[in-house]
Amino acid sequence: MAKTIFQKIIDGEIPADIVHEDDQCVAFRDANPQAPTHILIVPRTPIPSLDDITDEDEPLIGHLFTVARDVAADEGLDTGYRTVFNCGADGGQSVDHLHLHLLGGRQLDWPPG
Ligand code: AMP
Repeated sequence: MAKTIFQKIIDGEIPADIVHEDDQCVAFRDANPQAPTHILIVPRTPIPSLDDITDEDEPLIGHLFTVARDVAADEGLDTGYRTVFNCGADGGQSVDHLHLHLLGGRQLDWPPG
């Protein structure tokens, strides 16, 4: 299967503005930010979407959220932020490599579009 653009970033083949990396995930700034802070937290394992996670992935998914919390603090998002997994066509997913969006730095609307 062809590498996704996120796998190419993880493998260092294309550049990204990386704000965090560890043995389980890489976090980098979204190229088309929807808020003053918009960061994608991406597992190194190329899981296509939330539909594809297994029971064994539960610690990894939890890790993505603790990274989101820590990156939010690093970014100074003291008044709040949002985390989102888009899943599938109706969810607006455009890259088939699981990623957690971290958005903040402005008042976010609800419901989302
Ligand atoms: P989604 O629509 O949930 O699949 O989110 C994919 C996100 O990846 C979008 O917000 C895009 O702006 C972002 N994106 C696509 N290509 C890149 C890239 N090369 N570097 C950083 N972000 C990207």
